[in-house]
Amino acid sequence: MSEAPLTELPWYLAKQPALTNTREITIIGAGIAGCTAAVALQRRGFKVTVVDRHPQAGSEASGNSQGIVYPKLSPRDDLLPRANLAAIQFCRDYYQPFWDRGLGAQCGILVVPENPKKAADFALISQRFADRPEIVQSVDNQQLCELAGIPLSAETALYFPQLGWLPPALVCQQLLQTNNIPLLQADIHSLERDEDTSSWELVDGDGLTVLNSESVVIASAFDCKNFVQSEHLPLRKIRGQITQLPSTVESQALKTVICGEGYFTPAEDGLHSCGATYNKDIFTRDVRDEDHLTNITQISATDPGLAAVVGQPKIKNLSGRANFRCTTPDYLPIVGALPNMPEMLEDYAILRKDAKTLLPTRGSYLANLYVNCGMGSRGLSYAPLTAEILAAQIAGETPPVDLELFKAMHPARFLIRDLKRKRI
Ligand SMILES: Cc1cc2nc3c(=O)[nH]c(=O)nc-3n(C[C@H](O)[C@H](O)[C@H](O)COP(=O)(O)OP(=O)(O)OC[C@H]3O[C@@H](n4cnc5c(N)ncnc54)[C@H](O)[C@@H]3O)c2cc1C
Repeated sequence: MSEAPLTELPWYLAKQPALTNTREITIIGAGIAGCTAAVALQRRGFKVTVVDRHPQAGSEASGNSQGIVYPKLSPRDDLLPRANLAAIQFCRDYYQPFWDRGLGAQCGILVVPENPKKAADFALISQRFADRPEIVQSVDNQQLCELAGIPLSAETALYFPQLGWLPPALVCQQLLQTNNIPLLQADIHSLERDEDTSSWELVDGDGLTVLNSESVVIASAFDCKNFVQSEHLPLRKIRGQITQLPSTVESQALKTVICGEGYFTPAEDGLHSCGATYNKDIFTRDVRDEDHLTNITQISATDPGLAAVVGQPKIKNLSGRANFRCTTPDYLPIVGALPNMPEMLEDYAILRKDAKTLLPTRGSYLANLYVNCGMGSRGLSYAPLTAEILAAQIAGETPPVDLELFKAMHPARFLIRDLKRKRI
């Protein structure tokens, strides 16, 4: 990245360049964030190893059988919808080979408005994207029923023709397998710096060094909090449960994903996935009947027509899966170099007095230690792009997003904001 213009504080530029002598890099976490990062780095010539506490990739949040490539646009040009737009455009191409070989389906997504305010926003969104129908189109009831293949009640919807669903666990596994990226099973408890070899030691629960690596990417979702180096990140753990509903003769005709209060997928092997719940104070992975009920209630709230084709499933017989999202206060992912907190706090202490100060001092970052997490409810959409941002940063390339988006997803953004707001 080029020198910062003098008009802003260059906190996002590192004082010391990354060392890439051995080009060895280890990624902790084999979810969608870790696996996409592994591929992006390997493509740039890095020797990548992925470590996960499970023997198979995609065993935690990235383990559902059907995940939606979620769009979240807005009539306004705010950072969040801009990031989402960049992400869905990037991941559409990224996932094309998966869809082409029959994994999941690029079946299109219909988003029905949840309330009149959303309907008004949707009208403005469709105006904004009027010349880009490949991204999004506004459809009326007749069109949306034809696209969905079932009778729906919504009067209008946004249609994203190039998006769809994927099986996240299989995507993770295939990303590693087809690129011959090794997956090592180990539960990493700490990262110790070995200054003699300029490398990181990945230490397990017995205090044993599992491996040494010149560079490390922490892609362990909420469990980034367990490492001293990333514990400061403001992550939240939000439980979610999906419900798998047996298809009916009528529901089998569904051709697209439907999103609204919740989401509902076309049937795969006789089962639709629907969900998902949000609980911030429940930390069990047990599948709960009350959450099945919430998901089923969301179907009717999304569209009564959809509820009609689903029928009245018996809660007791339903299967599902529960896991945890890792969310951030601004709903944007966190990707990039991890700040050296004590040094940054000292270097930028003046921001507490004058938030507009323009020091020429660059940011201080931990040597060759990076993070890729905070994917929230949209890991499938964000991970391919954040992986590319990360790999570009490590390889010293220009990032694939503009500077504003780069900073909006940077791990040090919270530190700078909090200093300016005198919160730390
Ligand atoms: C119910 C539910 C439904 C969802 N639906 C969708 C959807 O439709 N579309 C969508 O885009 N997103 C969806 N999400 C969100 C999505 O699942 C996440 O955004 C995404 O999976 C996060 O990927 P990740 O790689 O960051 O985390 P994970 O997939 O959780 O991967 C982290 C990995 O790190 C490993 N790990 C952690 N700590 C350590 C350690 N110390 N040592 C070794 N390994 C470690 C874990 O074993 C895990 O494999 C949903 C989430 C939930 C809970």
